[in-house]
Amino acid sequence: MCIFCKIVNKDIPNNTVLESDEFLCFHDISPAAKIHVLIIPKKHYDSFDVIKPELMTNMTKFIHEVASQLGVRESGYRIITNIGNHGGQEVQHLHMHLLAGEYVGKLVGDKK
Ligand code: AMP
Repeated sequence: MCIFCKIVNKDIPNNTVLESDEFLCFHDISPAAKIHVLIIPKKHYDSFDVIKPELMTNMTKFIHEVASQLGVRESGYRIITNIGNHGGQEVQHLHMHLLAGEYVGKLVGDKK
């Protein structure tokens, strides 16, 4: 079982921001910005590359709810998903990074 599935199963603790039947948002353990959270589907998908486009409809709504709860919709935020080796993906469970709380426009490529 992958590490994010273990988080969904509560075998590994997490700092939850928001949860729904389908998705979970929690704080990244190694934040790259003042606000750095991860949004994952509870169901396992290896990456963005293998999902059906329909998943993104509900995931987008959930991300908007997360951004509202964090109070960053006006100030702005960045969504990133890394895919495969060249994309720098380390955890093989689809996740979106949400970076905010400061100017995050230059963070691409800085973290890895
Ligand atoms: P990626 O490189 O896109 O696969 O991102 C994986 C992210 O998961 C990294 O930013 C890690 O800091 C984060 N991460 C790994 N393990 C945990 C954990 N147990 N709880 C929270 N975040 C984690």
